[in-house]
Amino acid sequence: MIPFQYTRANNVADAVRLIAANSGAKFIAGGTNLLDLMKDNVERPTKLIDISRLPLTSVEETASGGLRIGALVPNADLAWHPLIEKRYPLVASAILAGASQQLRNMASTGGNLVQRTRCAYFYDTATPCNKRQPGSGCSAVNGINRGHAILGASTSCIATHPSDMCVALVALDATVHVTGPNGGRTIPFADFHRLPGDTPHIDTNLGPDEIITAIEVPAKGFATNYSYLKIRDRLSYAFALISVAAALELKDGTIQEARLALGGVAHKPWRDVAAEAALRGRPAEEASFAAAADLLLRDARPQAQNGFKIDLAKRAIIRTLTQAARGTPQSQSNKTIQ
Ligand code: SF4
Repeated sequence: MIPFQYTRANNVADAVRLIAANSGAKFIAGGTNLLDLMKDNVERPTKLIDISRLPLTSVEETASGGLRIGALVPNADLAWHPLIEKRYPLVASAILAGASQQLRNMASTGGNLVQRTRCAYFYDTATPCNKRQPGSGCSAVNGINRGHAILGASTSCIATHPSDMCVALVALDATVHVTGPNGGRTIPFADFHRLPGDTPHIDTNLGPDEIITAIEVPAKGFATNYSYLKIRDRLSYAFALISVAAALELKDGTIQEARLALGGVAHKPWRDVAAEAALRGRPAEEASFAAAADLLLRDARPQAQNGFKIDLAKRAIIRTLTQAARGTPQSQSNKTIQ
């Protein structure tokens, strides 16, 4: 690890001023990803700006009936918050599917959005990686790519986004509140993360001098018919090979509205509004779910080692939508898939 300065921001304006003044600086909150990256010499900030004591830890109801979640609410607190459990159980379930209890205690809501890929080459500074060092090449394209992307990849990068919580948030039409030198703005969740293109080193559309202050979820939480299913190599403390967030609004067995998003398949949480539209007006049964899965996966392209993900994704989509339609969401404590 290289030497770095440390300072603590007193308020949001102070944090923005400090980050805008130093292009080599990074914010640190829970540090659950950044400290690993620094130990591995992947991230080398010249200054850490500690934002962990900023007053961004509340969960408040909005005038429009939604919730505004402070960026520094710990993941564990969010998952067990009474309003999240009751009105947005899809978010709670996705959070509990990720990481470990200890990590969820430390990790912040805002930090969850800006965590970096877990592609092994990204963490190995002895190998080429366009995300770590632009222009150096992608070791995964012809390397070990069993866990890599099947949707939205480029020749520059085939990494996946590691978050579970973000898959639920994109499905629920969340927005991200950010503040920069010119004031505040909101970013629709679907536009927050980027596909790799030829700039895979830029993960998000958050400006380098901006800070995430809150995540807002709209009133509709799909608390009756939802499920988050995560398929992984071992049942805990592993990143998704495929994960699915599904939410339905049903009337007499017919789908009135559907939300469908995938994790573990792309450089960003992958939501497909065309697949959702195809479910509208259809009976909540396997044939409808299979047709939506085929539509969602229409542009899926396997890497050399991960062709199995396409079929796995189809089966996971059908299973998750079935769980949502039945009102029997996937348990994150008993991980038996039913
Ligand atoms: Fe780097 Fe992306 Fe290639 Fe992984 S997939 S080696 S993160 S460029």
